[in-house]
Amino acid sequence: MNWASRVKVTAIRRLYRSERRGLLDEKSLLDVGWVLYALCEDVVTAVTAIHLGEVPCPECDQPLQRKNIPAPTEAQRTALLRAQHRVGWFHCEHCQSRLLWQDCRDALRKKPRCFDCNRLLKKSGAKLRCTACDKSWEVKKYRESVSRRVLLPCPHCKQRLRKPIFEHQHSFGGRERLPEERKYLCSKCKGKMIRKSSSLTCSSCGHSVRWRSYKKSLKRRDETLACGNCGCEFRWQEWRRKGLRYGTGNPSPAAEFLEQWPKCTTTRQRMMQIDVLIQAIHGQGALAPVFIEGTKESIRQLLDELAAK
Ligand SMILES: [Zn+2]
Ligand SMILES: [Zn+2]
Ligand SMILES: [Zn+2]
Ligand SMILES: [Zn+2]
Ligand SMILES: [Zn+2]
Repeated sequence: MNWASRVKVTAIRRLYRSERRGLLDEKSLLDVGWVLYALCEDVVTAVTAIHLGEVPCPECDQPLQRKNIPAPTEAQRTALLRAQHRVGWFHCEHCQSRLLWQDCRDALRKKPRCFDCNRLLKKSGAKLRCTACDKSWEVKKYRESVSRRVLLPCPHCKQRLRKPIFEHQHSFGGRERLPEERKYLCSKCKGKMIRKSSSLTCSSCGHSVRWRSYKKSLKRRDETLACGNCGCEFRWQEWRRKGLRYGTGNPSPAAEFLEQWPKCTTTRQRMMQIDVLIQAIHGQGALAPVFIEGTKESIRQLLDELAAK
């Protein structure tokens, strides 16, 4: 398989501009739409491989199942791809700026402010100091605290804001997570391993391993996958390294686009579907650079522009 290439910032901007003028041309709409479609396929493929162990052969696309991870059920697939998508942005209740919670955090990391009085902190050595309340924080502790706090100042008006609820519920991180309900197979007899606090025990032969060493061995193992269809062999870790870029973030907007895009029959429907995806990407910082080619700033600027229209 070949990973799809990204859409250029300019192509998206041109599309929205021509829409605003009522001059949307079908060809550029389809061009952008199908590139996004290919990218959505890659996102779903990568997430499915990373979370459920189903990896397409790099030569012939034949889906292969990783060792020790049972083939995913339809229910697992649905749970993974249809996770309720939450739009990540909100409005500051004081100045109405459109924000991501991440913006509030980034602003404090760039220009630290006192958690109590909101004044700018002065850096002295490894410490940050508020001259007004005579409090100080170690830089590292301060940063950690920024990630944990539920009240942070708005980067624009500096009034304190409460962390929006949806930010507490992010379900997919970039790291490979092992869901609790996933069943593990015994290395001796391929029976089902049951997890009990800190160990895994095989339900058929009784073979038992410590959970932690099992998890470590899964990571360490340089797994080779052999394709029965074309005969090629490849290393999972190598596949994963490339796939991880696409397998970050919540895949549900991508899954949704894959389902809806082919059903669109009019220019309007197609533009709307692209817009839904773009807005979802905007809400999810992590996905933007996967879909759109440009610097972090230029992508963000484009998405803000589109959101403000
Ligand atoms: Zn978010
Ligand atoms: Zn504000
Ligand atoms: Zn202070
Ligand atoms: Zn066993
Ligand atoms: Zn193959």
